[in-house]
Amino acid sequence: MPLVIKDEYPEKLFREDGKRLDGRDKTELRPIKMEVGVINNADGSAYLEWGNNKVFAAVYGPREVHPHHLAKPDRGILRVFYRMTTFSVFERKRPAPGRREKEISMVIGDCLEPVLFLELYPGTSFEVFIEVIDADGGTRCASTTVAALALADAGIPMKSLVTSLAVGKIDGELVIDLSGIEDKAGEADLPCAITWYNDELSLLQFDGDMTLEEMNTSMDSAVEALKEIYEKQLTALKSKYIAIQEETLKQQESKTDGGEE
Ligand code: UDP
Repeated sequence: MPLVIKDEYPEKLFREDGKRLDGRDKTELRPIKMEVGVINNADGSAYLEWGNNKVFAAVYGPREVHPHHLAKPDRGILRVFYRMTTFSVFERKRPAPGRREKEISMVIGDCLEPVLFLELYPGTSFEVFIEVIDADGGTRCASTTVAALALADAGIPMKSLVTSLAVGKIDGELVIDLSGIEDKAGEADLPCAITWYNDELSLLQFDGDMTLEEMNTSMDSAVEALKEIYEKQLTALKSKYIAIQEETLKQQESKTDGGEE
């Protein structure tokens, strides 16, 4: 399915000044903003803006499995539903989940499962609903990153967070965090995810051409950038509790003040 006709790709993905088309250096991330606890009706939730990507994640569980036949007597199951809204991309996306969404849901589930203690929740399910509101390359990585935050926000015991990012090659140069156009017009795209409790990769996909040496260099820059994103995840989680603490202190102070009058 041609998303953008090849002729419409820019001839070059670097500007005269050596910067990428969006003004970034080769090892510069797009701007990232994250927030947890954004959906009242979910057990846990998070929102992520990553460049032009906008993604919500809502988590429910542990809860009864529907349909029942999916339940496992000796462990819980993790179900991930990655969806892109019809208006999230330039060419209207069909509302029904396609093959790509099903595959990405499975991939995200595989990334997240290693950090959960599913063996402690027999017969139940954890469900993660991901809605991509605006898409511009790297949505599987953004979705994995925001879903990990939503799981943590739900208070589900986890071995660690999971962070994900795509690195790749454009116009012969190695870069991190590919934008939509770089993903489509570049030579290689390498989405990866890391589970921090054991520093292992829980995702490594590859599309394109790269030498083994380039792959090694790319992975080194990916790890550096993943650490940067991980810090942002931690800050987003802590911010919620700092806000709660400040609110509680304020309430206590106003009660004390009221009592003294
Ligand atoms: N995309 C699109 N229409 C689609 C699917 C994807 O325009 O039906 C765009 C979207 O911007 C997405 C990008 O193509 O982020 C790259 O898609 P890919 O399948 O490589 O997954 P992603 O990089 O988002 O994880």
